[in-house]
Amino acid sequence: MLRVAVIGSGPSGVYTAQALVGQEIVPDVEVYVLDRLPCPYGLVRYGVAPDHEKIKSLQHNLRAVLEHPRVHFLGNVDVGAGGLGPRELRRVFHAVVYCVGAATDRHLGIPGEELPGSHSATAFVSWYSAHPDAADGRFPLAARSAVVIGVGNVAVDVARILARGADELARTDVPQAALGALAESRVENVWMVGRRGPSQAKFTTKELRELGALPGADVVVRPEELALDPAFGDSAGLPAVNRRNVEVLRGWAEGAARTGGAKGAPDAVIGGRRRLHLRFYLRPVEVLGDVESGVRGVRFERTVPDGAGGVTGTGQYEDVAAQLVLRSVGYKGTPQPGLPFDAATGTVPHVEGRVLRDGVPSPGEYVAGWIKRGPTGVIGTNRPCAKQTAAALLADADELAREPLPDDPVAALRRAGQRPVRWPGWLGIEAAEAALGRELGRTTVKIADWAGLLVAAGGGGR
Ligand code: NAP
Repeated sequence: MLRVAVIGSGPSGVYTAQALVGQEIVPDVEVYVLDRLPCPYGLVRYGVAPDHEKIKSLQHNLRAVLEHPRVHFLGNVDVGAGGLGPRELRRVFHAVVYCVGAATDRHLGIPGEELPGSHSATAFVSWYSAHPDAADGRFPLAARSAVVIGVGNVAVDVARILARGADELARTDVPQAALGALAESRVENVWMVGRRGPSQAKFTTKELRELGALPGADVVVRPEELALDPAFGDSAGLPAVNRRNVEVLRGWAEGAARTGGAKGAPDAVIGGRRRLHLRFYLRPVEVLGDVESGVRGVRFERTVPDGAGGVTGTGQYEDVAAQLVLRSVGYKGTPQPGLPFDAATGTVPHVEGRVLRDGVPSPGEYVAGWIKRGPTGVIGTNRPCAKQTAAALLADADELAREPLPDDPVAALRRAGQRPVRWPGWLGIEAAEAALGRELGRTTVKIADWAGLLVAAGGGGR
């Protein structure tokens, strides 16, 4: 018997579990998937936007893995806290695979970043996704104008949620408090701003196109700004995704040119429709405002391409008025207590998934997912990544399985002060969320607070 702990039940953790039990080279692998939250699925539950039902439905595949007879979900287990670190885990499991993702957001490092009204996009995502650590998020949705800094898929998600009507979101599992706040939103203009050109934006084309199909919002682009990008006129040499992005933007620019540009001032709201402005070649230099009244805008420096994929500043500035700023410039891994960490990349040093301590593979310690390779790629990217790590672990299995272990890992975790929520507890949460949805006349509605989740799981207080 080989007993493995996988830390984190997001895609990388679940794909790791799947790779470990779905092979025949090493029979009798038992996998315990531990998560700090009482709910499984990581960013599929707490990151994928609520209106992306198709991607969310991936939960069905992840669920099938967590219901495998040799996979055991243990939620509400806080690895790294209360003396449950790598050393203690190795006394209970032959091997530990850390699939803890990239838990925090990158910073801009510009003045005003921390002013009231300036938030990380990840905090906003957590709030509307019902992450229990974000239940009391307060975002100034009385704002008329919101700036989203960055042009990756997270930026597209938050811009789209701001531009959607509450009636559209009511059909999703957005928690009731967030839905109420979004229903009161007075946001009219959303500005999504990239520091480089449209051919270098990080969003994917499907996500970009979706912005052009929002029932209550219009996309506004500036043809002259897009034309600053040398690849805008001739995109033939670009990688496929960038080429397709440019084609979509070009289509929008031509539409605007045909109608003589959007009617009225660029930020004039016509017919109650919101406006979603895609801007490029603007580098944020300061979030404007003061501590008393909060954010009042963002100062950008106009940039131009430097011919080598980057940009240089021009010394010309543009202020975009906004009362809400969402910084969406990427996730960042955080150090795990007791594990080595490379602060420059925000990852754990490894070779093929084996954790390196002082440059040497550490027996029984592995990584997969964003903490292994950084916060890039789509959900499916985690599958080959997890397979590589599982292959390394299985190659080490003979050596690892020699260690004697206590009979019952769950009892050992309880002795370490943990109160695991097991699979039936999670099913209790699912049932409670479905019941809440019925009560509110909606579909499933997520429970957004720790106490509510633990009561639904039948697990008492935290
Ligand atoms: P991302 O794709 O890395 O995008 C980050 C954006 O922030 C880029 O536009 C980047 O511009 C910009 N940026 C970075 N530092 C900046 C600075 N100092 N000033 C101004 N702009 C700055 O990160 P993400 O959007 O957080 O997404 C993370 C991962 O999750 C990605 O792999 C993404 O595809 C994935 N994801 C996928 C979906 C989906 O499939 N629907 C949804 C959400 C997230 P530069 O390029 O110039 O650095």
